[in-house]
Amino acid sequence: MEICEIGELPPIGVVPQYMHAQVLRRERYGTPISAFQSERIKVPEIKDDEVLIAVMAAGLNYNSVWASVAYPVDMIQLIQQRGELKDNFYIAGSDCSGVVYKKGINVSNVNIGDEIVVHGGWFDPNDTFIRNGGDPTISKTFRAWGYETSYGAFAQFCVVKHFQCLPKATHLNWDEAAVYMVSGVTAYRMLHHYQPHTIKHDDVVLIWGGAGGLGTMAIQLVKAADAIPVAIVSNDEKAIFCQNLGALTLNRSHYDFWGALTPEMVKPENQEEWRNLAKQFLKEVLKITNGRQPRIIIEHPGESTFPTSLYVCDRDGMVITCAGTTGYMGSFDLRYLWLQNKRIQGSHYANPEECIKLNNLVRDKIISPILAETYNFEKLPYALQLMYENRHPAGSMALRIGY
Ligand code: NAP
Repeated sequence: MEICEIGELPPIGVVPQYMHAQVLRRERYGTPISAFQSERIKVPEIKDDEVLIAVMAAGLNYNSVWASVAYPVDMIQLIQQRGELKDNFYIAGSDCSGVVYKKGINVSNVNIGDEIVVHGGWFDPNDTFIRNGGDPTISKTFRAWGYETSYGAFAQFCVVKHFQCLPKATHLNWDEAAVYMVSGVTAYRMLHHYQPHTIKHDDVVLIWGGAGGLGTMAIQLVKAADAIPVAIVSNDEKAIFCQNLGALTLNRSHYDFWGALTPEMVKPENQEEWRNLAKQFLKEVLKITNGRQPRIIIEHPGESTFPTSLYVCDRDGMVITCAGTTGYMGSFDLRYLWLQNKRIQGSHYANPEECIKLNNLVRDKIISPILAETYNFEKLPYALQLMYENRHPAGSMALRIGY
């Protein structure tokens, strides 16, 4: 078989020669609307420990926006330099649901025809650090699949390591199953990994971007831990959306003191100005939490919010970050760090064990994917452009490919 049309699948186990894929090339890097283009690409070969998946639906994540604008990293160049990409194009996409069509000879955990979801934690299992029991997430071979590797989810077929395949929850449709893994496992690790600052009953947890992919998963995980999520959003519509998920909410657009601190701003003669504004914000948080400061802050906007996150965090609490969406200058007033014994923690994705735990929470219907909208295959550039401009709908977006 030469190629299948979008929305169709070949008979189970029959792999066509070519596939339709949404492709990035270095010469057209830029905003998603023009950088991503549909092309006909050869279906890739797999290695002995890999699996070829027919993608039914892909989930959209912010890392595809990073890949598109080649900032902060030119991904094609980086992967080529690492010797991990021979092609002069790249297929992004870090979340998907699909069907196993082919597997390498060393793969025993899945069979042809299995319905699965993919988690994006790619690594080399032969890495000595991992073989000696190290957490794969902090190994030098760890890669965000579909961002730091090619042949991701935005095509009719994708390539994954066998351990990235997890059983699809039977109560979810393909689109729902495609949209929760990246944001879900990242939020899961942020809340459950970093002892002693793991989430406890009745903790107040402040979540930036509560209506986003990460935010909607974090709200549910906080609720599942019998704790109190406080979602920060930018409009009333998103506030209602988060309240319906069980969060207390606060609208950040009522404030205008965001951005990095400068040395001038923390000088004794100037410090009152910023502090008074931050105090106002904290007061509003305390009003809705009955006077309790957040013990954990889920950070990802970065530059615009980091000083406030550290200020608002409770004594002995933790600001944990997985991104710098608004910029990389993470500034703060050191006095609030050491005098109040606070912790700043970085966190990136999750290890396979955490991915399994998150997937089981979904299979047990404790956590639900929050599917905002499904787009047809050719609409990917448009949907990612919405994300780039922060005009995308609350929740997560899916791309329908195989059905
Ligand atoms: P998303 O769905 O686009 O949500 C991001 C949210 O950030 C938006 O809903 C927006 O909410 C909020 N936001 C935008 N500008 C803001 C600003 N200036 N100040 C405060 N909040 C702002 O994206 P996502 O999937 O949740 O991902 C968020 C970030 O985490 C991205 O950078 C992504 O790459 C990163 N991430 C990292 C990992 C990892 O493993 N390291 C994994 C998943 C995601 P409002 O406008 O309503 O405030």
